[in-house]
Amino acid sequence: EKGIDLTIVQDYKLAKDNELRFEVEPNERVKLDLVDGSAEIFGTELVRSRSYIFESGAKIAVFTWFGCSVKLTGKLEACYVSKDTPMVIYLNTHAAVEQLRKTAEQEDIRGPRILVVGAQDVGKSTVCRLLLNYAVRLGRKTTLVDIDVGQGGVAIPGTVGALTVERPADPVDGFDLKVPLVYNFGHTSPNGNIKLYETLISRLADVFNAKCDFNSQIKYSGCIINTCGWIKGQGYQCILHTAQSFEADVVLVLDSERLYNDLKRDLPDFVNVILQPKSPGVVERPRESRRDARDERVKEYFYGPRKIYFPHVFDIKFSDVNIFKIGAPALPDSCLPLGMEQENTQTKLVPVIPGRDLTHHILSLSMAESLEENVVETNVAGFVVVTHVDTDRQVFSVLSPAPRPLPRNYFLIMDIRFIDIH
Ligand code: ATP
Repeated sequence: EKGIDLTIVQDYKLAKDNELRFEVEPNERVKLDLVDGSAEIFGTELVRSRSYIFESGAKIAVFTWFGCSVKLTGKLEACYVSKDTPMVIYLNTHAAVEQLRKTAEQEDIRGPRILVVGAQDVGKSTVCRLLLNYAVRLGRKTTLVDIDVGQGGVAIPGTVGALTVERPADPVDGFDLKVPLVYNFGHTSPNGNIKLYETLISRLADVFNAKCDFNSQIKYSGCIINTCGWIKGQGYQCILHTAQSFEADVVLVLDSERLYNDLKRDLPDFVNVILQPKSPGVVERPRESRRDARDERVKEYFYGPRKIYFPHVFDIKFSDVNIFKIGAPALPDSCLPLGMEQENTQTKLVPVIPGRDLTHHILSLSMAESLEENVVETNVAGFVVVTHVDTDRQVFSVLSPAPRPLPRNYFLIMDIRFIDIH
């Protein structure tokens, strides 16, 4: 209970269908206890035997279907009870997709593939978490596909990936991220390399399809795809590309009527496009707080939640590894060999000579064992961050969650930096 202001205690009694929303003040911690009745946080049921401790900046909603009493201890930035939630609508969506899973099971066909789209801060990730939790509570094994490179739901920002959810998210720590399938993208917006982004989405879809062929429970349970909030111009094209690659059955549009109408027009008729409200509880995050959240995510990767782990620190010889970046600068059209398309350069592997400018960059360690494999489309084993480069000794120092020796030696450099001031 370190860091919790024990002198501030508040009791709340919630009527059925009400939601208690709170935000933890920066550098404070807050304890939540369920005293009576039943309640859930983003679809995970709370138990009375545990105190839930939330860290600085957490934005939480405790919802109850039947009524409950809870106790909050610690300093809160905002805290209020609301009756105004779209939870019944979301529950109905869950019931409808669960029906599709049942049909899939009976007819041995693919279960529902749901694409969740909307602008920034409409609660896309939260709706995905809710639907996944409700599914797993019924014994489903639904796969979360996260292509929101700004937040990096299954790994760190700048990645896309997939995770089959086999138990509900922890109310504090979220889903268990021990075995996700992760691909290196390298940027925090699809804009950083659209061609690569689309290539990786197609790749994820192929891998998910293969998994469905192999495991019928995964096939019937379907998937839920969390996207990023870029919904205009090329961002819109990426949504279409994703719907097509995954052959989405349902597209859940949060809050944006315009996006809903555009998708209805542009997607085939068999795709069920539905418009649903966002929760008034979703907290808007300014640019700065998004950046902080990204940093926090990377820190958590290396140090674990609440800094319960310590990363390893060691040197790597330049000669022991190969570092690449993805994408070569485009040549003027007139310099291109006949028949070669300009965009091929965007997914090309380019060797990088290690130098001081590598400092603070995050590197993805590819699972590829040889350059004969398609390194760009191979999943990654994990990440290191370069803390120092010594060109005289021809070594660089890294922070790594895994000890030496690393299992592979092809690194992909990300356009994302992390400065370790823990
Ligand atoms: P992005 O644009 O970054 O993809 P998003 O649309 O996925 O964002 P979320 O990450 O789901 O949005 O929600 C934004 C924040 O609001 C999160 O910190 C989440 O915990 C909080 N939040 C979501 N729903 C509620 C609610 N009902 N009450 C209080 N806070 C909430």
